[in-house]
Amino acid sequence: MQQERIDEMLDRLNRERSALAGKMQCKVCWYVYDPDKGCEEYDIAPGTAFNDLPDYFACPQCGNGKEAFIPYDEKGGE
Ligand SMILES: [Zn+2]
Repeated sequence: MQQERIDEMLDRLNRERSALAGKMQCKVCWYVYDPDKGCEEYDIAPGTAFNDLPDYFACPQCGNGKEAFIPYDEKGGE
């Protein structure tokens, strides 16, 4: 039983870690930056983490800067 709990915990940690390196969402217009896809508007190559985006990056939809982005919660909050 203990083993099962550890597996569960590792699984959860993995998911949390990928969430941190994962999608970011613009809190103004809800545009989602997906690192797997990059961003054509700014010539960002697929596989670029949000933290690695250049300083000039801004939301392609509303033009707000990186500070407008929050971690995207795929679970849907609450
Ligand atoms: Zn936006």
